[in-house]
Amino acid sequence: MLYYSTNHKAPHATLRQAVVQGLASDRGLYMPEVISQLPDTFFPETAGLTLPETACRVADAFFGEDVEATALRKTVCDTLSFDIPLVRVEADIYSLELFHGPTLAFKDVGARFMARLLQHFLHGEQVNVLVATSGDTGSAVANGFLGVDGIHVYVLYPKGKVSAIQESQFTTLGRNITAIEVDGVFDDCQRLVKSAFVDPELNAHMRLTSANSINVARFLPQAFYYFYAYAQVLRNEELRTRQDNVVVCVPSGNFGNICAALFGHAMGLPVKRFIAANNANDVVCQYLRTGVYTPRASEQTIANAMDVGDPSNFARILDLYSRPDVQQRLASRGIAQPMPSLAGGHGSGFITGTTCTDGQIAQTMRECHERTGYVLDPHGAVAYRALREQLREGEAGIFLETAHPAKFKHTVDSILGTDIAIPERLQAFMRGEKQSVPMSNSYDDFRTYLMTR
Ligand SMILES: *Cc1c(COP(=O)(O)O)cnc(C)c1O
Repeated sequence: MLYYSTNHKAPHATLRQAVVQGLASDRGLYMPEVISQLPDTFFPETAGLTLPETACRVADAFFGEDVEATALRKTVCDTLSFDIPLVRVEADIYSLELFHGPTLAFKDVGARFMARLLQHFLHGEQVNVLVATSGDTGSAVANGFLGVDGIHVYVLYPKGKVSAIQESQFTTLGRNITAIEVDGVFDDCQRLVKSAFVDPELNAHMRLTSANSINVARFLPQAFYYFYAYAQVLRNEELRTRQDNVVVCVPSGNFGNICAALFGHAMGLPVKRFIAANNANDVVCQYLRTGVYTPRASEQTIANAMDVGDPSNFARILDLYSRPDVQQRLASRGIAQPMPSLAGGHGSGFITGTTCTDGQIAQTMRECHERTGYVLDPHGAVAYRALREQLREGEAGIFLETAHPAKFKHTVDSILGTDIAIPERLQAFMRGEKQSVPMSNSYDDFRTYLMTR
């Protein structure tokens, strides 16, 4: 299957090219030409399937034409070596816990899948992965690729803007992982990485690829766990009666996670509607309300992995809903155009947005903890709050708990007055020694550094 660019000015790419290149040559994001529809019979069947079994079916729909079945199955099973349970928080509200992987955040899924697929496609060639992180991407990618032969990873992160625990997860690894501490914000890191990819001289000097959520190999596998969430809905007595009224709420920053969910929906996943939950960085929420998209500089919040002022994957969502095939499928399910700018100013409400301040995140964490005993991390709290605001009578809500609260222990403890336990696999990172390369936010400096490697 071929992949096209959201900017429509680059040649179509094979899966291998799209994975190795990351970004298209016109700076657009790759999209699969065909989004396979899963048969209606598949969904009730998932009730009896494990996570890897469910994911293999979905992976086959995405990648089955391009990756041989045994290799694909192994990639999926190696990636999903941990559970993603759907946990009841209170009546009608469930948490999809995505933090049971090696770095305790949902990005483990995409990063582990991508590392394995890239290795599969490289056949021993040497490649350099550049990744910009606002916190969790760096740790997930670094750990996903750690020790993988032929791949060197450069993690760019904003100095002083990630938690000590997050930082330890990518600065203490050594081996094929180099951490670069940028004097700037996440958007600077992303700009440096994007500039490097389109720099012809640099690309002649070294082979570069991205591992940000723009890479199709990281982005598409995130659809797996939405299908598994639905499988768990069918297995749950309270939820089963609401199976046609499930609302999925995703705490969103760069919009890769929710975009993968929307792909899942376009493949037939029976979700009634979606909520994109934002912190104070709410450009997409404002877009969904007004039809006008106005990117701006990111703002620091306590849910810092969502501090993105111009989310890359927004272009993918717009592209998805401008496709005639997808529009037709939505229409056949009684859903009108969700994107206001594609619908004369008014979206159908199939996707709604929310926004909240740091004060509201903290208040939500406290209220939830007092009332239910469930400890939310600040990102999950943004989504839990959005569900509480927008869930209607008769609906059941699933929010994504995208990181373990211990990753933000300082913030969580100071808000809840707790002393939450740090899981052993997190403590192991913190015992390591920090190694990082200091860098200004100027592209020239970054370029010089890479050119002399
Ligand atoms: C990256 C991240 C998000 C945002 O996900 P996107 O795909 O960028 O929208 C939310 N929560 C946590 C904990 C994250 O690490």
